[in-house]
Amino acid sequence: MAPCEPDKAVATPAFGLAPVKHVIHAVGPVWEGGEQGEDLVLTNCYLNSLRLAEELEAGSIAFPAISTDVYGFPAERAAKTAAIAVRSLAIIDEIRLVAFDEETRDLLRAALAEPVREWCPTCGGEARPTVNGCPTPEAGAAWKAGLLALAWDFSEDRDDEPQWTCGQEHYWSNGPGDECRRQMAVLDAIAVTLGEDHGRSVP
Ligand SMILES: [Zn+2]
Repeated sequence: MAPCEPDKAVATPAFGLAPVKHVIHAVGPVWEGGEQGEDLVLTNCYLNSLRLAEELEAGSIAFPAISTDVYGFPAERAAKTAAIAVRSLAIIDEIRLVAFDEETRDLLRAALAEPVREWCPTCGGEARPTVNGCPTPEAGAAWKAGLLALAWDFSEDRDDEPQWTCGQEHYWSNGPGDECRRQMAVLDAIAVTLGEDHGRSVP
């Protein structure tokens, strides 16, 4: 097997682990204080594993708490990153975040139950996520309900793609590291509009 780079994911058969069909290997980031892009690498571990699972037509996937053991990633920050990453990509029917101790389980439960909240850096108002490009009908309904913003709200005099807006026509982006949070906020807005319970359980 070729070496696996941090944040990439590769699959191998699950020799002798029936009913598991595939094992996806992902190398999590080694914690170096939090300023070396560790959050984004950890996020990409989850996202790339989910995308690979989708390619393999998996109906379910289970994750351990990546990078929290000898790699030293702080448990609470890792739980929040995992929860946001798996909730931001609605592509696999069943996603399990598996904890091997009670502390991790409690952190994951709390992280999964926590809605994304973002505040305007200019006025302090609560923010809505933006959807760039052509919205789905569901996103259109959430827009009508005032829960998210669409590109035509702001596209005329801008050439960037802001991730967030407040009620005072302020627009901002926190960069690629925040993209999962924005995605998750969009999905939450759609779920609220549709009246769905968007919670995921933790075994
Ligand atoms: Zn504002």
